[in-house]
Amino acid sequence: MNRGLSLFAVIGIATMIVGCGAREPELNVLLVTLDTTRADHIGYAGHEDAHTPRLDAFARDRAVRFENAISSIPLTLPSHTTIMTGTYPVHHGVHDNDGFVVDDGVTTLAEILGGAGYSTGAVIASFPLDTQFNLDQGFDDYNDDYRQDWTDAEIDGRTVLSFGFIERKSNQVSAAALRWLEEHGDEPFFLWAHYFDPHQAYAPPSPYDSLFASEPYDGEIAFMDEGFGVLLDALDAKGLLDTTIIVVVGDHGESLDQHGEPTHAAYIYDTTVRVPLLIAAPGSGQATGESVKRQVRTIDIAPTILDLLGLPAHPDMQGSSLVPELHDPESGPERVALIETHFSHYHYQWAPLRGLRTDRWKYVLAPKRELYDLANDPGEVHNLIDVRPEIAADLDQQLDEQFRNHSWPDLARSVETITDTSVLAKLEALGYATGGGETVRTTPFPSREQLAEMPNPRDQSLVLRFINSSREMLRQGQFTKALEVAQKGLAIDSDNPRLFVMAARAEFSMGNVEKAIELFNRAAEFDPTDVHPFIYLGSAYSQLDRNQEAKEHYLIAARMSPGRVDVLENLGGVQASLGEYTDAVETFEKAIELEPGKWSLHMRLAAALRQTERFDEARAALQEALRLNPYSPVLLDQIAKLYATIGNYAFARQALEQAINIDPDEPLLRLHLAAVILGGGDDEGEARAQLEQVVTLAPDTRAGKLALTWLDGGDVELLEDETVVPTTGASPP
Ligand SMILES: [Zn+2]
Repeated sequence: MNRGLSLFAVIGIATMIVGCGAREPELNVLLVTLDTTRADHIGYAGHEDAHTPRLDAFARDRAVRFENAISSIPLTLPSHTTIMTGTYPVHHGVHDNDGFVVDDGVTTLAEILGGAGYSTGAVIASFPLDTQFNLDQGFDDYNDDYRQDWTDAEIDGRTVLSFGFIERKSNQVSAAALRWLEEHGDEPFFLWAHYFDPHQAYAPPSPYDSLFASEPYDGEIAFMDEGFGVLLDALDAKGLLDTTIIVVVGDHGESLDQHGEPTHAAYIYDTTVRVPLLIAAPGSGQATGESVKRQVRTIDIAPTILDLLGLPAHPDMQGSSLVPELHDPESGPERVALIETHFSHYHYQWAPLRGLRTDRWKYVLAPKRELYDLANDPGEVHNLIDVRPEIAADLDQQLDEQFRNHSWPDLARSVETITDTSVLAKLEALGYATGGGETVRTTPFPSREQLAEMPNPRDQSLVLRFINSSREMLRQGQFTKALEVAQKGLAIDSDNPRLFVMAARAEFSMGNVEKAIELFNRAAEFDPTDVHPFIYLGSAYSQLDRNQEAKEHYLIAARMSPGRVDVLENLGGVQASLGEYTDAVETFEKAIELEPGKWSLHMRLAAALRQTERFDEARAALQEALRLNPYSPVLLDQIAKLYATIGNYAFARQALEQAINIDPDEPLLRLHLAAVILGGGDDEGEARAQLEQVVTLAPDTRAGKLALTWLDGGDVELLEDETVVPTTGASPP
């Protein structure tokens, strides 16, 4: 009987293996990326101010820790692209957050694992990884709905001129990840959770705000640690901890004023390129609790995960599996790391930087070259370039060879900001220099001779500080100071486009819109490849009701960054204001294609359709908006307008009464209700009562004045088409 059973079981298993063909995945994969997290600011790394009990316990009890894991670039989108593809930026083509889109031709870990039968999901915490930048390749679900679990205060606090990236906090990331696990935890899965909290501004929630009052950056890491713990507990509760490979890695660090750099992106010191890396591979026989001191790279992560799953690495991948180190921390090949940043070049017009790091040395190719002996000078304080010229010469040659060998042959691999000649023509027509029609944001690294002529980022740390403190003051609403600081920066570095943007934003925020326009124009002249001045110019002109000019600048921005939904939404709004409703319809439809789940787009589309008398389509669009957001008074107002336009005043009245229930203090709703009551021939006294309330609520607004005019016997159009639509969007760093 027993023998019969086991034979049956054996046959059953054999049939299963033969029958399914593709390998049946046994292990899941959880990739956790810790944005802006320094390797040395976690408890297990010996940082005294750290409060990271979950990461510390994870490192001790479940993982192997890598003490010298090197990121390829200190910027979010390019670094994550490296992690996902196992290739350097010179191969995958993404060199900055701005102006680059991940090429469809790269192969991502998600594509490979999806092909191997895994359910693939990602929860993204901030705008640089937004779906429009195309790193969602291979993910069945790519949750970049940052507002998903926002509090009302967070929603209310965000405007188009908000400073800093749009983001969600780690507890909200974990909540979304848990929801995904609820649905997919029973299937073989690959889940990526991205935590963004440590990125500036440093504002940890309670109790970390007071516990870390003097070290808010560490407070953000402490809060993130809690979010990571929630995710681990959920895996534990589902019994998945022992069947899930967990990789925790930073995308880049944060300088915290070391080397004269406030944050990250401009330099390539270890403060920003050495990142935390923990790998837990259950059942692999790894040396849990031990640490690897030898250098590894973020290009090694994807090949490692594939190796642990028994899958081959993709031939494009430039890293190699860390499984040898996982088993024996002393083993493994020498892994030379390439590092780069073009950020200062793109945004400040200084030199770009390249670096080569070995276990012992860091060599930086800059207008003035640098060499550090990491074994004896881990803080990279003593430049040995003149002391050890033979080492420098050797590393310099290696750097050239390695960058050449790792580069994708076509420099235009990634979509640069400007490739569209019609945009260039338009820029020229508006008076912007366009560098002779070349695409500027490609990345040939300058020759040694060219490099020597460029401003050395290292010498510009004072300007970096001015830029950073101006940005912080803007964020805190200290506009006069922000302007002063930006001007101090400009006194030293007079053609720095970013400083013009800072000064312009300060002027804009103080209501000096004309002055702001002048400064945004200067920024655009110095760097016509940067989309942000054009977005701001659109916004500034539209504030002045100069809608034609607003439209022109939004059009440029939309052509430069075709994936930016916020730009399209604003463009459509301006087109509608100009009465160009057919164009507006087209623009909103384009935006909806990019982000079908955004209710305000459907609502604005409906408004434009109504104006072109396409009432059935308008109704369908409003229905979709209502499905996405049943509780918006603004939307109910639009619904009322459509019904009023087609003469159904009773329905219009219902919609407005519902809207007023939700927001009794909005004068426009009451103004419109009065109009609808009058239009439907209902009791004039009721309309009068509503208008009196409008006057009480907002005597000085346009609505208040219209109401007063009517009450005084004037003949005015009460159902005007002005709606307050919340604009949303992302701002540059
Ligand atoms: Zn980042």
